[in-house]
Amino acid sequence: MGRPCDVCEDASDYANGHGAWCEAHTARSRHEDAEAARWDAVCALEGCENNAGWDGMGRARKYCSNAHSQKAYRLRKAAAIAN
Ligand SMILES: [Zn+2]
Ligand SMILES: [Zn+2]
Repeated sequence: MGRPCDVCEDASDYANGHGAWCEAHTARSRHEDAEAARWDAVCALEGCENNAGWDGMGRARKYCSNAHSQKAYRLRKAAAIAN
């Protein structure tokens, strides 16, 4: 039932809610989206627009540099004290 997967036309394991891909291709597309998000991630420090500079391995990076990671940490601490 349902229409065939956009990638492989296999409708036999049609378990996802989006209706575009079979289960295997839905999982793969999620993985690719997550990887693209890492490459596109921008430094989490407010006001900094630099790419976070993920090197393609392991966990996503949050900050463009150690300096910004430390600055954000200091800002968080200062904000916690202010509250
Ligand atoms: Zn498929
Ligand atoms: Zn930065």
